[in-house]
Amino acid sequence: MSTNQEWFDRALAVIPGGVDSPVRSFRSVGGTPYTVVSGSGAYVTDVEGRTYIDYVQSYGASLLGHAHPAVVRRLRQAAGEGTTFGAPTPGEVLLAEMMTERVPGLEQVRLVSSGTEAVMSAVRVARGVTSRNKILKFDGCYHGHSDALLVAGGSGVAQLGLPGSAGVTAGAVADTLVAPYNVVPTLDETVAAVLVEPVAANMNLVAPHPEFLAQLRVECDRVGALLIFDEVITGFRLGYAGAEEYFGVTPDLYCFGKVIGGGLPVGAFGGSREVLSYLAPAGPVYQAGTLSGNPLATAAGAEVLGLVTQDDYALLSARVAHFATQLDAAVRSAGLFARVPVRGPLLGLYLSREEFDDPENFDQARRLCDNGLYRPFFHAMLDQGIALAPGAYEIIFVSLAHSDADLARTVEAAMHAAHVAAGADPLS
Ligand SMILES: *Cc1c(COP(=O)(O)O)cnc(C)c1O
Repeated sequence: MSTNQEWFDRALAVIPGGVDSPVRSFRSVGGTPYTVVSGSGAYVTDVEGRTYIDYVQSYGASLLGHAHPAVVRRLRQAAGEGTTFGAPTPGEVLLAEMMTERVPGLEQVRLVSSGTEAVMSAVRVARGVTSRNKILKFDGCYHGHSDALLVAGGSGVAQLGLPGSAGVTAGAVADTLVAPYNVVPTLDETVAAVLVEPVAANMNLVAPHPEFLAQLRVECDRVGALLIFDEVITGFRLGYAGAEEYFGVTPDLYCFGKVIGGGLPVGAFGGSREVLSYLAPAGPVYQAGTLSGNPLATAAGAEVLGLVTQDDYALLSARVAHFATQLDAAVRSAGLFARVPVRGPLLGLYLSREEFDDPENFDQARRLCDNGLYRPFFHAMLDQGIALAPGAYEIIFVSLAHSDADLARTVEAAMHAAHVAAGADPLS
């Protein structure tokens, strides 16, 4: 039987760093990534035949768990009907209808192939609508890997300890302003758009203050800037209709990805008909894509959205809230301190040797994520068959496939892992 090491060595020879996305590399936790051959529900199995309870869940793309039978059935059927045409298909209409029916301010969406593309295109629309150049993002929020948005990017960029990226010109970021999360910035009439993760989930989890998003709405309106919710994680995960419903704040543009692809590559951006009328072919803002609205991806996405009910979101949120309380207790019983911020089914986990409060911005989150405790905790969990994300800046994704027994086993493992982390040499 082949090993994870053998596969990773082969990968290293032909794929830079052995991975197609840096967060998968184990660079920040050390060791060799497990190479996944299959997944089923809450579990993934690696090339050595080891099965893990998976809390990565493709960084939030999977809401029902892996290889859900109904999604697989739908995909088989869709594949048999042809996978891409370069012509309109019913599938893209159905998915767009489902999304716009749920999210009150979302009248139209354009489908693309990734979250990065969705945000990049939304920014272009905002600039086209306002005829302004500047955009503002918040420190530690991740909006995909396009040039203008990698500054202070959270997630993998933070994991590798980078402020941004080489290969991005000063010109590309000259119009990007960065402000601390949870403080409403004072804008002026040069700002086209403010981009925000309604719940910041790429610097571990930082929740918005109660009035943050509403005040941001007011400030955008004051100067005529568009408010963009990057809902690539929160969309159709935070709740049935995402962040707008959850927080009662309506943005001008929404970006989606992850969940709406049902495990296949999809992104989307949308808003009111008026704003979207700027987009080609109706308007002057160009945007396109050979595989946009791909039949396989829209089939999987629509199947998932169709299967997940309002009750499922309530159930998942309740399950996660209970899990969080137990995780917290498990870590504390081992002599460490934890914070487990929860919003809907979104769950963060911070560890520390001292008592602390939920972080409110990237500076506070970073101090906790970089305190050296996550690395031994992560490996002790992995040794017990629990796969957390290989980086402290990611959140814990609980899917609808995770059973109470899976969560209970995870809590048991966390108690042991916290003991290990508490005793670990902080410099090792
Ligand atoms: C994952 C993510 C993106 C980028 O989506 P990709 O599909 O990886 O390009 C953008 N914004 C947020 C908030 C994300 O979590």
